[in-house]
Amino acid sequence: MFRNLKAVGRVLYGRNSFDQLDEVMGELRVNEDSFVLFLVDEYFEGKELMKRIPMHSQDILKIIEVKEEPKTKIVDEIVAEVKSLGKGNPVSVVGIGGGSAMDYAKATRLMFTNEGSSAQYQGLDFIKNKGVHCTVIPTISGCGAEVSMTTVLTGPVKKLGIKGNYTPADQLLLDPELIKTVPEPQRFYTAMDCYIHNIEALNGHRKTVMGDSLGHESLRLCREIFLSEDSRTSENDEKLMIASYLGGLSLTYSEVGACHAISYGLASVTGVHHGEGNCIVFNQLEEFYPDGVKEFRAMMKNNNIDLPVGFNANRTPDEIEKMIDVSLTLIFMWAHVCGPDWQKIITRDKLRGLLMKM
Ligand code: NAD
Ligand code: ZN
Repeated sequence: MFRNLKAVGRVLYGRNSFDQLDEVMGELRVNEDSFVLFLVDEYFEGKELMKRIPMHSQDILKIIEVKEEPKTKIVDEIVAEVKSLGKGNPVSVVGIGGGSAMDYAKATRLMFTNEGSSAQYQGLDFIKNKGVHCTVIPTISGCGAEVSMTTVLTGPVKKLGIKGNYTPADQLLLDPELIKTVPEPQRFYTAMDCYIHNIEALNGHRKTVMGDSLGHESLRLCREIFLSEDSRTSENDEKLMIASYLGGLSLTYSEVGACHAISYGLASVTGVHHGEGNCIVFNQLEEFYPDGVKEFRAMMKNNNIDLPVGFNANRTPDEIEKMIDVSLTLIFMWAHVCGPDWQKIITRDKLRGLLMKM
């Protein structure tokens, strides 16, 4: 059986298209009580962009902390707070920021129409009711959350996405002007999440012509950007935004692989952010992706990026074993990398050896 896949609904794309957001929201407002819930990455507090957010008097704007990755608890708190106002449901939940702010928007919108805590819905296809409308506006590019079927959340028990047909956003706004302020090395780390998605999607048992075609184009853009003389031009920002979009779509038709499987383990113990964690792991995966790792290092060199050295040097044996435990639960990823007999290849010893090199 093939899954009838759902991607983002409408896509507004273009430089300064952010200025059309009021028009897009206007189509959703049905009467003067209609309100929009804006969830905005904390970076923008006090910045110029705040003044450009088309707030109407009844709208609600919340600044979202993104130092730690999104939590079910915060999703539940936002929904409870808005519901307590007795204004009904928003006509759209708009996430403005990176993967974290966008995932908050994608999760929050679901909890206006599904009972209980968002933690109950972590996993595949647990959401039963369509959420309210959701708009995502990336301000840093690479993670692919703008188009994916997942919203990654940390709950009281697990870090796992809410994934299903109701999870993708309804509206995406791609304005390359919004990502120009992202500092290094954050921009590189998040962009490499996209590069790694492509390498992993293109190299494994679950690859498809659909996934490959999207992944190859995304990869071509990543190469143009990060092997160029100056990766930080306006043109390269635009290419990066599209690479992230295509890379995210490509994953819908394939799977991530060894880097993500190990990086989830690494993050579960250290809390390292997704993009940085992926870079630390990928740098040690020549055995799985020899050409990709070589090219990744060339990109690092070309962009003067130094990865943390000895990241796992002082971890206790228990911490390393916990990383291995988490990594081994990601069976779809490992089956994509090594096939159905992956357990014969991916042993605890192998993972321990790799983790100790990081
Ligand atoms: P992020 O959202 O964590 O943001 C990284 C940093 O960049 C933050 O400090 C943020 O304030 C800052 N930032 C954002 N825009 C900026 C701008 N224009 N100028 C300056 N600073 C800016 O980063 P990310 O890498 O996009 O997302 C990572 C998150 O996404 C993780 O929580 C991860 O689990 C999740 N993720 C989700 C998916 C998915 O499919 N849903 C896929 C991969 C990762
Ligand atoms: Zn990723």
